[in-house]
Amino acid sequence: MYFASHAHSHYIRPMHDLHIYNTLTRRKEPFQPLNPPHVGMYVCGPTLYTHAHLGNCRTFLSFDIVFRYLRHLGYKVRYVRNITDVGHLESDADEGEDKVAKRARLEKLEPMEIVQFYAVDFHRILDKLNLLPPSIEPLASGHIPEQIEMTQRILQNGMAYEVNGTVWFDVEKFAKVFPYTQLSNRQLDELLDGTRDNLEGQDEKRGRLDFALWKRATPGHIMRWNSPWGVGFPGWHIECSAMSTKYLGEEFDIHGGGMDLIPTHHTNEIAQHAACYHKNPARYWMHTNMLTVNGQKMSKSLGNSFLPAELFSGNHPLLERGYSPMVVRFFMLQAHYRSTLDFSNFAIQAAEKGFQRLMAALELIPHLPVSDTSTVDVPALRQAVYRAMNDDFNTPVALAELFEGVRHIYAIHEGRDTLTAADKEQLQKLYNEMVFDVLGLKPEKNSDDTLVTGLMQLILDIRSEVRSKKDYATSDKIRDALAKLGIQVKDGKEGTTWSRT
Ligand code: AMP
Ligand code: ZN
Repeated sequence: MYFASHAHSHYIRPMHDLHIYNTLTRRKEPFQPLNPPHVGMYVCGPTLYTHAHLGNCRTFLSFDIVFRYLRHLGYKVRYVRNITDVGHLESDADEGEDKVAKRARLEKLEPMEIVQFYAVDFHRILDKLNLLPPSIEPLASGHIPEQIEMTQRILQNGMAYEVNGTVWFDVEKFAKVFPYTQLSNRQLDELLDGTRDNLEGQDEKRGRLDFALWKRATPGHIMRWNSPWGVGFPGWHIECSAMSTKYLGEEFDIHGGGMDLIPTHHTNEIAQHAACYHKNPARYWMHTNMLTVNGQKMSKSLGNSFLPAELFSGNHPLLERGYSPMVVRFFMLQAHYRSTLDFSNFAIQAAEKGFQRLMAALELIPHLPVSDTSTVDVPALRQAVYRAMNDDFNTPVALAELFEGVRHIYAIHEGRDTLTAADKEQLQKLYNEMVFDVLGLKPEKNSDDTLVTGLMQLILDIRSEVRSKKDYATSDKIRDALAKLGIQVKDGKEGTTWSRT
């Protein structure tokens, strides 16, 4: 078992009174890990047949906060976030073509080429948004034996049946012994009524809610593996069950994903797991709400999605201009993960001002004057921030409290409030830990882009000075040297501009 005995115990912060909203029980529960100080967390990762959009990033950012805060509290977290590269069909009802295989077929590439291309991009974007990498990032196609084994076990336990090389999970049979609809809080009858009457194209499955654990591959299907049931490929849901069990054990602490995964993917994950091990895999099921645009869920199929890269550059019809990654991160943290977050240029511009004010205040802290007494209650501020984070990772409230502190920082700076040396140290610690470590924000001035912008401003100022002295030789020398570095300088009526060539 991976929770190997650790001789010495770890320090868990005493103020820790974390409560997590559990979708399973529909209430906030005190967080009690199965095996402290270890915490196992599994989050359903992206299906990388295309670029991850900003909505996907919101979900992963929410779990980055969970990861960071748990680590901050002193837990040793094993965070597993998979990459789906096989089995995710075009519709949730186990129909249509495999998303990755289809893309590979259209582009005449290997499926792994597609996934690799988008995985590199995905990691680059998450890195810009300052997400910590998960502890393990398994690929579904790298865990075919585990998925086959689990399918065999479900068959042995009588909760699945095979028809012509495809293995189906028997939902109605399972529902007699386990609360199949517990997570979605719906009735089985309601679900049955919601499905189409005919089983057209699905004539091999017996029940309308049955889903595939393993699918027979048609001759043209690119991704195919041998199995006890012939050549085929795994269903989408089984991958997460197989990989979470492999890396986190038969029972672990947190399982997460976007709330759109509740009715099918997560419901079926629980079913598969319970059919094998007679229990729910995770204690706490956490679900993030959707990023919306004008009130509609951002999604590729609705055509209202844009990519993080487009948001950073401003190069998209929905965007007035570009916004930096840290402004985007800050914008997302201003909503609680269980609320929807509606994207608008207005809202993100407001977030930009807030972010800059927070960063400016952070720079002031080391230079604040100290006095014999404090008019600011730093311990109370600290408590309020932790209270918010302990209340189901309430980042908007934590930020509001930090901004209350920012008001005081400016007041101290201007001599309207006072601070003792000890309180100043506490204040610095609170902001460093909360803003940088837990919320994962960082000053942008060190970013390459900001640095280049600043340097170019300086170079062009110097160049315009030498030109005003009619020193055209130096001015041309600067222009030519910049051209060699791939920067084009244009002198126009309105002044001098520059761009990368
Ligand atoms: P997918 O690649 O479609 O499987 O999605 C990856 C993750 O992003 C899942 O956890 C989804 O629930 C989540 N997701 C998809 N669309 C959105 C959205 N608009 N806002 C927030 N999360 C989303
Ligand atoms: Zn999953």
